[in-house]
Amino acid sequence: MRADRHRRTLAAGEILFREGDQGHEAYVVESGCIEIYTGDAASRRRVARLGRDELFGEMTLVGSQTRVASALALETTTVTVVSHDYLEERLESADPLLRHLLRVAIIRGRDSMQRLGELNGAASAPAPVADPDGSADQRAALQRLRLEQAMETALERQEFRLYLQPIVHLHDGSPAGFETLIRWIRADGSQVSPGEFIPVAEQSEFINILGHWIIRDACRLMAALDQAAPGREPFLSLNLSFRQFRDPELFPVLEAAMREHRVVPQRLRLEITESMIAHDMQAAKELLGRCKALGAKLSVDDFGTGYSSLSYLQHFPMDSLKLDRSFIGEIGSSPAAAKIVGAVARLAADLGMQTVAEGIETAEQAARCRELGIDYGQGFHWARALPEADAIGYLRRGGVA
Ligand code: C2E
Ligand code: CA
Ligand code: CA
Repeated sequence: MRADRHRRTLAAGEILFREGDQGHEAYVVESGCIEIYTGDAASRRRVARLGRDELFGEMTLVGSQTRVASALALETTTVTVVSHDYLEERLESADPLLRHLLRVAIIRGRDSMQRLGELNGAASAPAPVADPDGSADQRAALQRLRLEQAMETALERQEFRLYLQPIVHLHDGSPAGFETLIRWIRADGSQVSPGEFIPVAEQSEFINILGHWIIRDACRLMAALDQAAPGREPFLSLNLSFRQFRDPELFPVLEAAMREHRVVPQRLRLEITESMIAHDMQAAKELLGRCKALGAKLSVDDFGTGYSSLSYLQHFPMDSLKLDRSFIGEIGSSPAAAKIVGAVARLAADLGMQTVAEGIETAEQAARCRELGIDYGQGFHWARALPEADAIGYLRRGGVA
């Protein structure tokens, strides 16, 4: 049997577990075919035959961990492993009421199986969850499970990279800083978009682990940029996820990484979206306080899309606002968009905040943002997110990707 932590491949005829074994894992069939049976070789009684996406062995995840049936691969078969620890972690982050209901339902299900088995005078196997059509919800849940496990493996295999997208001074186009944007590049060169995996990472504690890696790598990058292009001193903007608001390790990790790489705090900016602020004002306020104490900057990302009341700016002025690219895209065609951008630039200046326009794709958009008083620009007009070596080249040349 070939094994990694999340997947196992079984040869035809191989037994995954036997009735009476101790077990702490459930499985999802990825490919091939599993037979669930009770009894021994002589008196074997088939309970179910399972194909792709079917879940089995789940009863051992709660309470009694003794297998009540055996599982055998009928052909070469790959299964995804759902460990007890994984389930516990997911349950911990679930709504407490749902968590309780789920535990009760599983335990009752197992007890009634056992009683049925006793009545029949034989150990009965739990019914595998077999839904050949698979509801859309179920398919989405399985896909999420696979992606979560693949991300953990990707982190171990160092498949994540932080790319750097230049942010320029709008008045002359010279480099001012970079936004770090994560990339997942698989061994075969294919990429998974952050728009796909970040939302999945955000549903579990994994975003905090990934977030720590991002912080450490950004600090390492800052030192690498300074060494390769001395004197330029760009700032780096890091994206934070809503869960990281509540991560007690966030600042300890940040401070340790900054110390290790001798990062000047004023050159680090944390980006939080306006909807994160709207959702949890208190956490945003605390974060701003901690950034101020450290000397780092805080920036409002996707400004103008969060449906938040602007009054938060009065109570806790941020260091900068990043205007969402939806306004920039329309700045040439919609007088209203241009008016909004101009008004935000004035408001920010009055409150002592800097402004960044995101998603600038043309020279006209850059010129318009400059006229309207925006400080910095970011977008494909100058450069996409660049790998480290290209960002260094860009910085050395003083711009021009
Ligand atoms: P975001 O923070 O709003 O990042 C800006 C996104 O706009 C990036 O997409 C960037 O490549 C894209 N972009 C930049 N300039 C242009 C342009 O001129 N035109 C257009 N059409 N797009 C432009 P990306 O890298 O795919 O990231 C998507 C989102 O994923 C980010 O949105 C952010 O929410 C999240 N993300 C990316 N990296 C990280 C990270 O390291 N940590 C966290 N927590 N989230 C990240
Ligand atoms: Ca951002
Ligand atoms: Ca943004």
